[in-house]
Amino acid sequence: MTSSNDIRATFLDYFHRNGHTVVESSPLVPRNDPTLMFANSGMVQFKNVFTGQEKRPYTRATSAQKSVRAGGKHNDLDNVGYTARHHTFFEMLGNFSFGDYFKEQAIPYAWELLTRDFALPKDKLLVTVYSEDEEAAAIWRKVAGLPDSRIIRISTSDNFWRMGDTGPCGPCSEIFFDHGDKIPGGPPGSPDEDGDRFIEIWNLVFMQFLEEPAGTRNPLPRPSIDTGMGLERFAAILQGKHDNYDTDTLRALILASAEATGQEPDGPFRSSHRVVADHLRAGAFLIADGVLPSNEGRGYVLRRILRRAMRHAHMMGSRDPLMHRLLPALLRQMGAAYPELVRAESLISETLRLEETRFRSLLERGLHLLAEETGRLGDKQTLPGDVAFRLYDTFGFPLDLTQDALRAEGRPVDVEGFNAAMTEQRKRARAAWAGSGEAATESVWFDLKEKVGASEFLGYTTETAEGEII
Ligand code: ATP
Ligand code: MG
Ligand code: MG
Ligand code: MG
Repeated sequence: MTSSNDIRATFLDYFHRNGHTVVESSPLVPRNDPTLMFANSGMVQFKNVFTGQEKRPYTRATSAQKSVRAGGKHNDLDNVGYTARHHTFFEMLGNFSFGDYFKEQAIPYAWELLTRDFALPKDKLLVTVYSEDEEAAAIWRKVAGLPDSRIIRISTSDNFWRMGDTGPCGPCSEIFFDHGDKIPGGPPGSPDEDGDRFIEIWNLVFMQFLEEPAGTRNPLPRPSIDTGMGLERFAAILQGKHDNYDTDTLRALILASAEATGQEPDGPFRSSHRVVADHLRAGAFLIADGVLPSNEGRGYVLRRILRRAMRHAHMMGSRDPLMHRLLPALLRQMGAAYPELVRAESLISETLRLEETRFRSLLERGLHLLAEETGRLGDKQTLPGDVAFRLYDTFGFPLDLTQDALRAEGRPVDVEGFNAAMTEQRKRARAAWAGSGEAATESVWFDLKEKVGASEFLGYTTETAEGEII
């Protein structure tokens, strides 16, 4: 079996042999980029190189980038445990050209690596191109010999990449693997493309244009390449599995969770084990990169991830902190490739244990209240927003935890009502502060807080019944 560690090494080695400099993953917390919550793709650390603001001693690079997609623009949190292909933390393998080679070389590299070095069967692969990108379609036809039926033209933004409202942009081409007709789902672009049969493994971005503030789009004099392949999705294919969670690294964590909780790995708590395995990775890597649980910003995303995992641990009957007990399994799997995990082992372990210890009684009491409240409602009837808010405010339940808890019964939460209750609470807090005589400064503070909170829900500090800051 090709291990995930071997796949990473083979990928980097292939591009290294082809003149790329192997660049280490950047930390999950982007340096000097307040617009971004976490590194969520390989190109993040090269942003300024692509725009020309920064020069590096190389024009070709390859990396295995730690990526988190929870909170912020890309948020896959709600998919975790429920799809075969999403994680909050994953590794993105990539190759990059900074004004060096373009499509004519990026496509053959990808095809050769997949079908020669990794020996994937050609007839299981299909690709998408942007509807206007005839050039890419022609290269695929020539290099891979793919028939037109397996070069799918997509006209949506899925196949047109933009760095931001302005800056580099261009069409992309995605490579999909067909896991076979036993799995539901249609090819990309079809109405049931969200199924798990055709899985996107690799995205090739062709940075071809520069979007100007006035909205005009000009060709870049030296176009660039940015690609991203999900290691876990690729490992699933090479290890003969359909599901990322059945690959070596994640399976080892699931088995550790099964052993620690005494619950069968593939029994009734299958989803919970998956959530725990995924969230343990995200939690450990975030803590190793300096994020600590808190009520705001990045720390609150980490807290949401950990609390969500704790509810699943609790469901599996775990009454003592669980996550830190699974850490050794993670270190065995990933410690060699990511020594920062080993260096931060005691910090990670202590942080996980403390966070679970702190939340446990609130979790139990909150779940009790939730059961009481839903008991009063009809089947699938929406949970009122003020109840979700009470859970948030008094018991420290992030909204997504409450939603996740009710997901199995198909019960939605009134999010608008939740937000209204939150706004009400803020108004009351503002009114109470206004009485203290320093209204001018406080008003600035509140405005700032609301401005920050408006672009992204980051949660905010509240006092619990116990007076603990959660
Ligand atoms: P999807 O459509 O499946 O959500 P995406 O188009 O959002 O994927 P990209 O932004 O193109 O993904 O990222 C490049 C690659 O990273 C994807 O082709 C996939 O292999 C991998 N990837 C993206 N999101 C995740 C995730 N949440 N978990 C694991 N791998 C991911
Ligand atoms: Mg996605
Ligand atoms: Mg996609
Ligand atoms: Mg994509």
